[in-house]
Amino acid sequence: GGAALLSLRNVEVVYSDVVLVLRGVSLDVPAGQIVALLGANGAGKTTVLRAITGLLPLHRGRVTKGSITLDGTAIDDAPAPSIVRRGLAQVMEGRRIFADLTVEENLRAGGFTCRTRAALAEGLERAYALFPALKDRRSQMAGYLSGGEQQMVAIGRALMSQPRILLLDEPSLGLAPKIVGEIRDLIVKIHESGTAVLLVEQNAAMALGIAHAGYILEHGKVVRDGSAAELAKDKDVQEFYLGGG
Ligand code: ATP
Repeated sequence: GGAALLSLRNVEVVYSDVVLVLRGVSLDVPAGQIVALLGANGAGKTTVLRAITGLLPLHRGRVTKGSITLDGTAIDDAPAPSIVRRGLAQVMEGRRIFADLTVEENLRAGGFTCRTRAALAEGLERAYALFPALKDRRSQMAGYLSGGEQQMVAIGRALMSQPRILLLDEPSLGLAPKIVGEIRDLIVKIHESGTAVLLVEQNAAMALGIAHAGYILEHGKVVRDGSAAELAKDKDVQEFYLGGG
């Protein structure tokens, strides 16, 4: 029992004070679990992540109702860096890495919470253990890497703060099936190392294949939730999200 690591209760979000995009979203991510957040384009998935990480103001959005807690402490009004210090890191949609910096410089940027050189060095070692391919390319300009490698840099950068929970926004977007498989295996490894994951995906088959639980968002509302196994068996989920029917 006990409270989830990350909890949203009845969260409403508006953009520019007029566009109501989230209409009362509640969801829980228990410590150490993978939770999938699924939904069509425009359902509000990215907005959920922005609400959690304090990035709404950058998009002229704000939370108008509800609460967001990390470990039972409200983070609704906390600035993004302080949320990272409390153990929550995010990989944004479209892998926004620093294209003009090297792989290692990108990773170092994610280590801004490290208090000592030793902690930073340890973080780099952990990242290279998880992504051996990046070690060989540590001095390469990140912008020259393949899409899959760039996604790994983005994930590695987020892991530098040793988060207890990682938010991933469509990590498989635009990647070849083989690379999607690598990303999936990586998310499982991250989970096995004890980090919880909130996984936003349009690839419902991949997400439900590795998640413990899932939520389906439509027009800013959760229309279904349950264990990943239950959701994968659900007729509507199969028809609309798994391409079956
Ligand atoms: P996608 O998979 O396409 O990213 P999504 O489920 O992540 O979709 P959001 O990006 O959260 O959806 O967008 C939800 C709705 O909010 C959309 O209708 C979008 O047009 C709208 N929206 C997003 N950002 C803004 C903004 N800054 N101002 C006004 N409306 C916005």
